[in-house]
This record gives sequence, C-alpha cells and structure tokens, in this order.
Amino acid sequence: MPCDAGGRLIDPALDAALSRFAVQQQVLVASDYDGTLSPIVADPAAATPHTVTLEAFLALSHVVGVATAIVSGRTPEHLAEFVGTNENVHLVGNHGATMDSGHDADRVRELARQLTELLGTHPGAAVEPKATGAAFHYRHSTDPDAASAAARSVVRAVGASMIEGKMVVEGVLGSGDKGTALRALRDETHAAAVLFIGDDVTDEAAFGVLTPPDISIKVGDGDTSAMFRVPDVPDVGAVFRRLHELLADGS
Ligand SMILES: [Mg+2]
Repeated sequence: MPCDAGGRLIDPALDAALSRFAVQQQVLVASDYDGTLSPIVADPAAATPHTVTLEAFLALSHVVGVATAIVSGRTPEHLAEFVGTNENVHLVGNHGATMDSGHDADRVRELARQLTELLGTHPGAAVEPKATGAAFHYRHSTDPDAASAAARSVVRAVGASMIEGKMVVEGVLGSGDKGTALRALRDETHAAAVLFIGDDVTDEAAFGVLTPPDISIKVGDGDTSAMFRVPDVPDVGAVFRRLHELLADGS
C-alpha cells in the first residue's frame, strides 16, 4: 500500500482519488477541528491540535492553487487561538450556522440559561455558550444518559436545531450547516474540487455536498456517507502529507 513520507499506510483507493484531486487547477482542502486536527480530550477547553497533523494541514495552505479552511462547531475566535492568524486559512465556526435576527439572539440567551439551570441537577456537566447557540457537554456528568436526555428536551423546547456529537448535545439557532458553508467556500475560492475530512455527525452535511473529483473522508468509526475512511487523527496528517507530495510532483 502507498505510504506517506511519515510511513503511515494510505488506502490505495484513497491514494488514487488524491492523485485525481491533485491535478485540478484550483482545490479547496477543508477540515473539521475536534477529532480531526485535534484528538478528542475529556475537557473540550483543553483540546490542543495534534501538532504533526496541524502542520501538515497548514503546509498545504502555502501551496499555489490550494485554498484551505477549517469548518468547526467552535467559534472562529477559538479556532484562531489554535491555528494562529494565517490569511491562507478560512475559519468557519458554529457548524457553518449564521444568525438571522435579534430574535435569534434572544433565543440563544434563553437556550444558554436553560442549559445552565440543568447543571444544578446534573453535576459534572458543562455548558459552552456560542454565538449561535450553546453546547451541553455531559462526558463528566454523574449520570450521562439522564443529563443528555435533559439537554435534548431543553433544545427541543427552545426550538433550536439539535446536534448530537460525542458526549455533547448542542442547540443551534440561525440557519446553515457545514454543507452550506462548504458550498459557499467552494464558490469563494473557485475550487474545481473540494476535499473535506471530519469525524462527527455534523460533518455528514459537508460530506453530502461532495461528488468526485471531490473527496470526503470520515475519521474513525460510525455510520457515514463519506467516500473514504481513516482510523485516527495521525492518519489525517498522513493524508495531508501525501496530498502535498502529489501537488509538488505535478507542479
Ligand atoms: Mg469533530
């Protein structure tokens, strides 16, 4: 099987797709953040990038004909803290959702207030306020099932879109998702082909807008509509390094 420069194996079918992708005039390489560029950790606030994988991603941002983007559930400000300010990397936060009106802002505050109230009965959980909603992390909750159920009923009551991730329930107000964000990025960057890689349910919306020569890659286990799969965060770096090699060969 083909290896990247770091010696990690790459699925031959994925390698062939990367070769077809690399010959396009202008491409967009987009990635989720948590669980893709950064290993999932117990405390979301403590998540730091997998240095080797992030470096491989950022290296692509300096290649002529390549645009890069991170599309994440975090805020753009949060993402900038991790990747620094790099004008070659588009940062899209809040799962690609954008706010429509002041009415939405009131509902965002109400959602955060009601989720915060749950902390009294579900110790160990944590609320992460966001510009377009709020996330309820129950990984450390004393009764994760009950905490998750309570958070879901709050999200439903407020009328927010529900996003269920790994030990997190999130309510999102406003409109749009990672799929709409990726379409907008494709237009903005004039990309002839788009690669997107991600590990969670919210990434499926992005996978859904891709067709060859685009490439969609799911990180880890779980149902997916992605074309390819890699096992873990270091393998994401291997894909980026292999793509870098192929782009260099073609130039
Ligand atoms: Mg993720």
